[in-house]
Amino acid sequence: MKLIAFLEKKQQVLTDNHGRTINYLRLAVTDRCNLRCFYCMPEEGLEWLSRKELMTYEEMLRICSLLINMGVTKIRITGGEPFVRKDMMKLLTAISRLNGLQQLTITTNGVLTAPLVPELKKIGISSVNLSLDTLDRNRFFSITKRDELPNVMATLEALLQHGMEVKLNAVVMDGRNTQDILPLVQLTKDQPISVRFIEEMPFNGGDAHYSKLNWDYLKILDTIRQAYPNIQKVKDEAFSTSYNYHIPGHQGSVGIIAAYTRTFCSSCNRIRITPQGILKTCLYDNGVLNIKELMRNGLTDEAISTDLLYAMHHRAKDGWEAENKRKTNAPVHESMATIGG
Ligand code: SAM
Ligand code: SF4
Repeated sequence: MKLIAFLEKKQQVLTDNHGRTINYLRLAVTDRCNLRCFYCMPEEGLEWLSRKELMTYEEMLRICSLLINMGVTKIRITGGEPFVRKDMMKLLTAISRLNGLQQLTITTNGVLTAPLVPELKKIGISSVNLSLDTLDRNRFFSITKRDELPNVMATLEALLQHGMEVKLNAVVMDGRNTQDILPLVQLTKDQPISVRFIEEMPFNGGDAHYSKLNWDYLKILDTIRQAYPNIQKVKDEAFSTSYNYHIPGHQGSVGIIAAYTRTFCSSCNRIRITPQGILKTCLYDNGVLNIKELMRNGLTDEAISTDLLYAMHHRAKDGWEAENKRKTNAPVHESMATIGG
């Protein structure tokens, strides 16, 4: 009786063994992509997940609904590139209608997104994260192996035209796009864009293991500060993964995400589900629960909730502990396309 009462109480709010409340789900809906960003996946030799390995939309809706009942209020759809999966707007529309969900957002590379912006707005998506590492067409090609910068810029324009909140994510890569930091910051002058620079992480689907990161958040900040000495720190929102700044006279803002240095773990409110339906309680763990299998084995929502709570109560304290605990003991070599960023 006591155990049941404990579980019932716990089920109201999803918390972990370190006292953190979980209210944010990042759901990766596909591993496939129409770009080949070198820091995310190799250009060739990729083995895509088969249809059977992927969660179906019905399964995704079920797990979203279950997690909303356990306290999740925000869902971000990511991938791979979400819009390469067929009928993505149908899934987004269905998720947007789930009772109790307060915020639905999406992370996209913008290649196919521009024509969909009015529909995204119509179903209540008011904020979009757009990935863009450079404003130079040649560098864009060299980073992504595809000549798609004009389509991405069309998406940026469409988002701004429709009054959507835009967070522009740029991975900072030593020797590849550090000359783009200031032009990207300059975008915040006349547009209400939040440009966020992300430390490069070792999730490129290969065997690269970064022992030293040359462009960490301090170096990125220093570079911006040299050009804009009057840049001001602004208060970071609760659970923010970025350190946020404002340049006087600019409409937008600048953020830096210390994704490799991992300075934000103590307030982490998020979980991730991969396209195969694997729960990750930390970006750096290698998956702690196969939710898809639980569903396909016929478990009830209650039984799945209990397993989710168990996983949350065995969560690593931070990204360093999660990485050390990886079962394989191998260095991180996943592709970010199966994690979702
Ligand atoms: N395809 C979509 C896109 O690029 O926006 C969504 C998925 S992508 C994996 C999500 C985010 O992860 C992107 O902003 C991307 O820049 C970031 N990302 C991918 N690989 C990364 C890496 N190795 N280090 C840091 N960020 C990475
Ligand atoms: Fe595709 Fe996004 Fe990965 Fe680039 S970062 S390869 S756009 S999934």
